[in-house]
Amino acid sequence: MAHINENFRKLQAGYLFPEIGRRVKAFSEANPNAPIIRLGIGDVTLPLAPAVVAAMHEAVDEMGTAAGFHGYGPENGYDFLLEPIVEHDFRARSVEISTDEVFVSDGSKQDSGNIQEIFGQDCRIAVTDPTYPVYVDTNVMAGRTGEADEQGRFEGIVYLPSTAENDFMPGPPDQTVEIAYLCSPNNPTGAVASRENLEAWVAWARKNDAVIIFDAAYDAFIQDPALPHSIYEIEGARECAIEMRSFSKRAGFTGVRCAYTVVPKELTGSTLSGERVALHDLWSRRHATKFNSVSFVVQRAAAAAYSPEGRKQTAEQVAYYMANAAQLREGLGAAGFKLFGGEHAPYIWMQTPAGLSSWDCFDRLLNDANVVATPGSGFGASGEGYIRISAFNSRENVEEAVVRIRDTFAG
Ligand SMILES: *Cc1c(COP(=O)(O)O)cnc(C)c1O
Repeated sequence: MAHINENFRKLQAGYLFPEIGRRVKAFSEANPNAPIIRLGIGDVTLPLAPAVVAAMHEAVDEMGTAAGFHGYGPENGYDFLLEPIVEHDFRARSVEISTDEVFVSDGSKQDSGNIQEIFGQDCRIAVTDPTYPVYVDTNVMAGRTGEADEQGRFEGIVYLPSTAENDFMPGPPDQTVEIAYLCSPNNPTGAVASRENLEAWVAWARKNDAVIIFDAAYDAFIQDPALPHSIYEIEGARECAIEMRSFSKRAGFTGVRCAYTVVPKELTGSTLSGERVALHDLWSRRHATKFNSVSFVVQRAAAAAYSPEGRKQTAEQVAYYMANAAQLREGLGAAGFKLFGGEHAPYIWMQTPAGLSSWDCFDRLLNDANVVATPGSGFGASGEGYIRISAFNSRENVEEAVVRIRDTFAG
């Protein structure tokens, strides 16, 4: 008899997005002419930058020649991609990362879900609440938690509430925890970590021999150059942090698939007998065993995002989404809604009006405004009473959505 991994049964029946999809489908079947505007799922909408497309075409043609054909690539990525990563994402901000500390992959969702494999079964996990669900669910699947309570909080995970009082960027926990997942700029709250916040986390991790998993999928959306893009901008982070970056949001690669993870060589974990082991070696072993590199064509596309034209064009895409975010902030703010985020991230975190629950607000917006947003409670118990509005759409749709949301709750 093939026993299943029963940990999977602890997961909440519906992942958030399928449930949203189900409700939107039911609504549009009942109202086939409703002009629905989707500001729900965090997916980009603009087409790929011309420099990226040109590089992909060129790489495909190269693959069709005897001299330019590429089979399996180097496990951690081609130098033509690793070098601009190190140069533009780190050295440009005075951070030294070597190319062999960078592991190119097909997505940060995968990386942030897989990274837990290199840690012991007994490691205690902390997440900010609300959170990107992957961090929690992958630890549930791995058996590091007990059952979920009525609010969806799993026994054995430390949840750090992100609230208006802490600017949606909680500091380190008082409880003993070995691994903490941080995401800045944050999905779903749209908040961004200050240097002081990250300094507190790094000091905590070093003092407690803990590891920070820092997800910087949205770093390109940071508007204030003084804010940290990388956790390695904080002194001492090389000894306590793993960082993840993705081309998905910054260059429209959600359907192309390319990301990377940085594991500094100084970073170690402990065996039960107290021997120190480099996490770099473990992740390298895992990567080599379970992954066969990102396609040559895609890595060429990612490298093109760092060319002068690629940087200019992708920056324009980010600016377009951030202008959408500004429209949402201004339009809804002027109408009296209580809003957070959207200044350094493509998400607005809106307090639900009239004390509605997140799902009741979702239903009101769908039925009356024909706007799809994402219920905050779907990202964690502390997201209750909020709704996430994404800036990934056309300007026209965003402007129309502002009017409809305002009118739905007017009076
Ligand atoms: C979109 C997103 C990612 C990126 O995932 P990919 O698999 O690289 O597309 C990672 N983390 C968070 C929090 C995200 O919202």
